[in-house]
Amino acid sequence: MSHLSEHLRQATPVVAERGEGVHLFGTDGRRYLDFTAGIGVTSTGHCHPRVVAAAQEQVATLIHGQYTTVMHQPLQKLVERLGDVLPPGLDSLFFANSGSEAVEAAMRLARQATGRPNIVVCQGGFHGRTVAAASLTTSGTKVRTGFGPLMSGVHVTPFPSTYYYNSRYGWDEEATTRFALGELDHLLQTVTDPSDTAAIMVEPVLGEGGYTPANSAFLQGLRERADRHGILLVLDEVQTGVGRTGRFWGHDHFGVRPDIIITAKGLASGFPLSGIAASDEIMAKARPGSQGGTYGGNAVACAAALATLDVVEDEGLVGNAATQGARLRSGLEDVAAKTPAIGDVRGLGLMLANEFVTDAGEPDPKTASRVQQAAVEEGLLLLTCGPWGNVVRLIPPLIVSEQQIDEGLRAWSAAVQAGCA
Ligand code: PMP
Repeated sequence: MSHLSEHLRQATPVVAERGEGVHLFGTDGRRYLDFTAGIGVTSTGHCHPRVVAAAQEQVATLIHGQYTTVMHQPLQKLVERLGDVLPPGLDSLFFANSGSEAVEAAMRLARQATGRPNIVVCQGGFHGRTVAAASLTTSGTKVRTGFGPLMSGVHVTPFPSTYYYNSRYGWDEEATTRFALGELDHLLQTVTDPSDTAAIMVEPVLGEGGYTPANSAFLQGLRERADRHGILLVLDEVQTGVGRTGRFWGHDHFGVRPDIIITAKGLASGFPLSGIAASDEIMAKARPGSQGGTYGGNAVACAAALATLDVVEDEGLVGNAATQGARLRSGLEDVAAKTPAIGDVRGLGLMLANEFVTDAGEPDPKTASRVQQAAVEEGLLLLTCGPWGNVVRLIPPLIVSEQQIDEGLRAWSAAVQAGCA
């Protein structure tokens, strides 16, 4: 009998029948509070009526307007609309289907634009699963092992407090940032000369790597070095973008200007769409035909993205992510205060996580997994992350209400009790 490959294991036993708002409905007849949002994708919730209507209308009008053959209206409109939310000066756009593809597009662009081969990435970063994106990924060996040789020309520099609870600098953010920037300077002096270095790629909040936010001094330190050496600063906002952190972009928290920004996930509420934005000057250095793809900028996905951006604006979802994120965080901190196994609560906006540790302060993936499984019993869907899998994250859709946050917290508290018993 044919079956899904065994290596593709679901984090929960739920078979989803339908989704509505913050809920998934299983074939088991149960309703689940979905605090995974399809790994941070369903920003406007499952099947938001305006996204559904826009997609349905587009399906009946034009499904596939192949964008290297013809321009099509949803893409034209989306390009214009994104101008309202992109950082100033990043006016030139390219679209693909997944985060990984957009990461590769950014990497190719950085290499072509600078004529330099090497990319510096931050320890603990996750940038995707294609071979090039996996080569840039250091959040865990599972996306790298057995695929080698991976792409050459990738160099890893520390991220401040990659593993926060056990950080070698304790809670001293200034010391860990100074260390991280010092290591980068050392890398540029001893391993990859600036004249060989095209880009530094970083997430404003490490996603799969454990939900650790960067900080202003670190990102501005990267900006300063990028400017000094003619290196491009590439921000991977695949998970942090479109309101997830309580600002439209994750980097808005840190006052740093990217040269290239990468977006995907929350942009189209679940339709496959990703993109990069850069200045005209940088994008002009991409050789004609060097970027592209059959399905990139799909018409239905673009229509869904337009509706998503309208919903985000009209329903004030960025502000809601900040408000409900603060409420969720405070509830998580209350639970953590009573739970020695929770070593840290961290994140920004509605991108929050709890790090589980043993009495000795070591990563505790077993407890994290028990809590995540117990949460399913409580009707709450959650995912783990982090290099040791000991971080349980909560990423509800941005439409989540106060009442649903409280409901989620009650389920969380019960799951923590059950999982830590
Ligand atoms: N970058 C980041 C920051 C991500 O979180 C992810 C996905 N988790 C990716 C890139 C890869 O995206 P995709 O799975 O769509 O290829």
